[in-house]
Amino acid sequence: MSINWLRVVFPSIIKLPPPLPLRYSSPSSCSCFSSVVVAMSYDKELTAAKKAASLAARLCQKVQKSLLQSDVQSKNDRSPVTVADYGSQALVSFVLQQEFPAEFSLVAEEDSKDLRKDGAQELVDRITKLVNDSLASDESYSVTLSTEDVLKAIDSGKSEGGSQGRHWVLDPIDGTKGFLRGGQYAIALALLDRGKVVLGVLACPNLPLTPINDQHSPNNEVGCLFFAEVGGGSYMQPLDSSSTVKVQVSGVENPEEASFFESYEAAHSMHDLSSLIAQVLLSLSLSIYIYIYVCMYFHACNVTLRCKQKLGVKAPPVRIDSQVKYGALSRGDGAIYMRLPHKGYREKIWDHAAGCIVVTEAGGVVMDAAGNPLDFSKGKFLDLDTGIIVTNQKLMPILIKAVRESLEEKASPL
Ligand code: AMP
Ligand code: MG
Repeated sequence: MSINWLRVVFPSIIKLPPPLPLRYSSPSSCSCFSSVVVAMSYDKELTAAKKAASLAARLCQKVQKSLLQSDVQSKNDRSPVTVADYGSQALVSFVLQQEFPAEFSLVAEEDSKDLRKDGAQELVDRITKLVNDSLASDESYSVTLSTEDVLKAIDSGKSEGGSQGRHWVLDPIDGTKGFLRGGQYAIALALLDRGKVVLGVLACPNLPLTPINDQHSPNNEVGCLFFAEVGGGSYMQPLDSSSTVKVQVSGVENPEEASFFESYEAAHSMHDLSSLIAQVLLSLSLSIYIYIYVCMYFHACNVTLRCKQKLGVKAPPVRIDSQVKYGALSRGDGAIYMRLPHKGYREKIWDHAAGCIVVTEAGGVVMDAAGNPLDFSKGKFLDLDTGIIVTNQKLMPILIKAVRESLEEKASPL
């Protein structure tokens, strides 16, 4: 029943708001937001989010650079990532509070508990200096924060999120292991409005501007900023410039041609163990008893491999840390991302919110491994226990089927 028809029939009884132009009205595969989103501009929020994430990326780049230049002994020290992690959160929190003082709620990974402990003063001083140096590099804010200001900014990230109101969602450094290795990491910032992701920004300081599989590219520049607003598409720009391009997920329809992303860390998706088991199974023809034992012992370890076999994916997996995978997928560097963590692991919203909208606005689909959309309205955690799968609209049905069959096979290996 159209709103206009209702107005004619019930002109005085029903007080309806004036019709708003629809900006987005596809029955979205997008799991991040509702199927019909009435025109609601988040442009101001997006501008602020891009600024905050870019500043945080600059801070992280500076720390990673000095980390990589340091001697071997100090490379075993985790404090650089700690400093950059807290610094990034303090910076993003400060910028967003400056821009939106009236309504501010932030769900973020860190809090200041450890920084308030005895012996942490030197760390806090380092973080405070970094944050102030970063703010000084941007002319918008002529302030110098005290250590207490920095701790308070970090603690502003204690919100629980949920289905009411607006909440910023931040992972100040997603992929801390990648950061320490000198590899990929991301600053991931999203905004929830009534439980739906309405904008997302992914700063990826080490991601090449050209496709990751393009080894012949003469351009070896790195540093990408992906951003998306609900109904507005996904875009990428270099971290240090404003030239923007619209991005689109891969249109590959044949799984054999699809390349496949997964976590770099085996502990996050158990790919090493799955490969190992596959090799053992195929080359040594292990007895079925050993096979069952290994499967039981390593839980879901063979799922990824089996999905690959069922899909007929030929290319070897591309292993990347962090939500950089979502960014790379949004511009078609790969076609599938599977994340199948160990049993019992609870996914946090800050590990997926920004990536989810960047991919869906680029035409992709993000679901849990059972084929349900992700629900960001339940607080800090995503309510799922099967893993997360991401691909284009054409491949999603076959990917869901392959995952389902593999999980069934895993549950009854005989
Ligand atoms: P990725 O680099 O894609 O594997 O994801 C990095 C994120 O994985 C981190 O930010 C953590 O929040 C999350 N993580 C930490 N431990 C685990 C785990 N055991 N299984 C799955 N994810 C994890
Ligand atoms: Mg993370």
